[in-house]
Amino acid sequence: MAKFDLHIHSCYSNNLYGTKLLSPPSKSMPEDIIKVAISKGINVIAVTDHDNIIGSLRTIETAKRKEYKNKIVVIPGVEVSSKDGHILAYNVYENIPKNLSAKETVKIIKEKGGVAVAAHPFNIKYSLSESRITELDNELFALEISNSHSLKNKYAQKYINKSNLTFTVGSDAHSLTEIGLCHGETETAADSIQAMLDAIKNRKISSVYTYDKNLLIRVIPGALMAFGFWKIQQSKSLFDKKVFLPYNDTICQKPFNS
Ligand SMILES: [Zn+2]
Ligand SMILES: [Zn+2]
Repeated sequence: MAKFDLHIHSCYSNNLYGTKLLSPPSKSMPEDIIKVAISKGINVIAVTDHDNIIGSLRTIETAKRKEYKNKIVVIPGVEVSSKDGHILAYNVYENIPKNLSAKETVKIIKEKGGVAVAAHPFNIKYSLSESRITELDNELFALEISNSHSLKNKYAQKYINKSNLTFTVGSDAHSLTEIGLCHGETETAADSIQAMLDAIKNRKISSVYTYDKNLLIRVIPGALMAFGFWKIQQSKSLFDKKVFLPYNDTICQKPFNS
């Protein structure tokens, strides 16, 4: 049995996605990701930064050091921003062009020897829709059915049950504490990249979702800050209106006691 988390962001992510308040940019260094994953008993990870392979390659290099050898397997990967939503590319060692259609993106990933997985599918933003997924059914390797930022995990799990596609699991960690929040378990040892991909392909895996109260602690102050910011913007616009009132406005020029 091996534990895996195949969606982790490092400080090399371009962090253009999500709100800075609710989902702050990742500051996780590759070596810290490895250390935290090992300390949480996770044996297989993938660093999948937004449109940047460097974090993944640095993590692979770091994992080769003797102190981490045989303790962790790092699957190379990147999260590609296609025009139709985010697509995880695994087993690739170079950047995949962004802003192409999902179809073109998947084609390039496969040409580079990789496999394509729909990241946090069915969500409104940055995610492949059901029609896109149906269209790509034979081209996609898997759907990510558990992602700790996704609101559509249950829907994705149901979709998988009636499709031929297999699935993956990833925390989408933007911080070290989130690593492993959503993780999967393999039935067999996953001691190499190929062994991990084979376990996914043959559905010899299960998904484990653990709820972390840290997420709630982060969401509430974030929501309050967003509300405060909105209120400030509102009062600002009121103030701006006053400035632009006509100079000879009769109401403004009336004395107080009249
Ligand atoms: Zn994403
Ligand atoms: Zn992500």
